[in-house]
Amino acid sequence: TRIKGNYRYEIAELATTINYMAQEIVRSNQIKDDFISSISHELRTPLTSIKGWSETLVSGGYDPEETKLGMGIISKESDRLIGLVEEILDFSKLQQNEMKLSIGIVDMKVLLQETILNVWAKAEKKRIHLLLECDDAVFVKGDANRLKQVFLNLVDNAIKFSHEDSSIVLTVQSLSNQEVAIIVRDSGIGISEAHLAKVRDRFFQVDALNGGTGLGLAITQQIVELHNGRIEMHSELGKGTQVTVILPLATEQALV
Ligand code: ADP
Repeated sequence: TRIKGNYRYEIAELATTINYMAQEIVRSNQIKDDFISSISHELRTPLTSIKGWSETLVSGGYDPEETKLGMGIISKESDRLIGLVEEILDFSKLQQNEMKLSIGIVDMKVLLQETILNVWAKAEKKRIHLLLECDDAVFVKGDANRLKQVFLNLVDNAIKFSHEDSSIVLTVQSLSNQEVAIIVRDSGIGISEAHLAKVRDRFFQVDALNGGTGLGLAITQQIVELHNGRIEMHSELGKGTQVTVILPLATEQALV
């Protein structure tokens, strides 16, 4: 009652803001906790397998065939660990605004051809057909390695969530003199509307339903944004997913 007039409203408003901020802190802490627990789980799986196989091999008495099998698994699981650690490091660099791009002129047609070659063997295992629709050379100003990482991640997801004997199509479309759209389309399992909303949401991008860290798309989106581009995602459960990456074209001056 000693607080008079407008002050009373201001204090009420302040209390609402503080309350909202407190809720946000609790929410973001919860997201971090979930994130750490899913990352730890992802790191643990390959480590358990490496430890199991190395102990078995050390104990000896295995024929060359079994030894070869064990070594193969150790090598594959180590690659998976390296990949995970690289993802975590990339994500943390992006969070701290410390990812440095090495900018050059990138021919997207060549980059997409290389991407397809890189994942060819993986697609072949599921008899998935990879197609590139691109007429002319398209030039973008950017970091070739980072852009490759973007499309490798998208095509990798498309393969992971596609059925056997299906097709994945990469289409390059000029939108104007200034922008190009690169569409990665699969006819796989698709994403439900509720999950797609989560995947789109910046915080919840670190969210994986099917195991995995869920870091892939978060990193992909941020690399595209560092190139002044954007990503659009459309999906229908049971029908497939379409991810469109829109990037600014290199200007005429940059090309000479
Ligand atoms: P991760 O790095 O764990 O693979 P991503 O960030 O790349 O995670 O993807 C997050 C989630 O989005 C996946 O776990 C999956 O549920 C869904 N997703 C991504 N791409 C596709 C796709 N092409 N088809 C169906 N689901 C997808």
